[in-house]
Amino acid sequence: MPYDALMKIVTRFAPSPTGYLHMGHAYSAMLAWRQAFESDGHFILRMEDIDQSRCSPEFEDGIKEDLSWLGLKWDMPVRRQSEHLDDYAAILERLHSRDFLYPCFCTRKEIMAEVVRSNSAPHGPNGPLYPGTCKHLSVSDRDNNFAAEKPYALRLNMEKALAGINLSNLTFFERDKGHIQCDPSAFGDVVLARKETPTSYHLAVTLDDALQGINLVVRGQDLFDATHIHRLLQHLLDLPTPEYLHHGLVSDMKGRRLSKRDKDATIRSLRENGYSLEEVKKLSGFGK
Ligand code: GLU
Repeated sequence: MPYDALMKIVTRFAPSPTGYLHMGHAYSAMLAWRQAFESDGHFILRMEDIDQSRCSPEFEDGIKEDLSWLGLKWDMPVRRQSEHLDDYAAILERLHSRDFLYPCFCTRKEIMAEVVRSNSAPHGPNGPLYPGTCKHLSVSDRDNNFAAEKPYALRLNMEKALAGINLSNLTFFERDKGHIQCDPSAFGDVVLARKETPTSYHLAVTLDDALQGINLVVRGQDLFDATHIHRLLQHLLDLPTPEYLHHGLVSDMKGRRLSKRDKDATIRSLRENGYSLEEVKKLSGFGK
């Protein structure tokens, strides 16, 4: 969909409540909120809390508090991904019925060992690609693993998923950059359901953006590559494709990217240290 200056933007901020917001998050949330506000659209808050071992209600509350302090209001009830596992199971089933998924019983260690052993393992944007070990399992080996209740992830069979797709139609519209040609094969057989969680970031974010009517995804540049996978999933699942705005990442004085590990850079700690809203906006690169 090309850029439409009159479009009412429906966008979201989708943090994982695994820590407090840092300035990079604040920048992202403020940028998304401004797109919605200036177009008289909607700004939605979603909690990407599928990794229940790392998420906590305390962080969710902290995030909401920080967003409110930043002056941001969200329009709908917060969607928590952990409360919608059935939705993800339903779309996994659709992919499974087309034979696009296979169970992967490998541990991380086994994958790394295979990558080292094969010597010429192809690399994708996020490191070595899955070497396909479980794609080639015999039916009896697979059944034995099921019988032994070995935990398994579900991987997308990229080759099958891409067969029959005219890749030149697989594009997304990036604000400021125009149409981007997708190359999902660069990611190999990505995990769509993890061993411990019956979904994955890629699957959940793609479905939620569609269900929530998001027409502009605003997020950091670090997720630009992931969009190639999301665009493929949209195609496979007949979901609409929003526009995208991947923004630059906030850096500290030494030019290092800020992350959740930088405790000093959380909005909460800045607030506690007496920083004003204007100062925080300026530090995040948002204020003029
Ligand atoms: N939950 C992701 C994060 O906290 C953001 C996902 C997205 O915006 O697509 O980094």
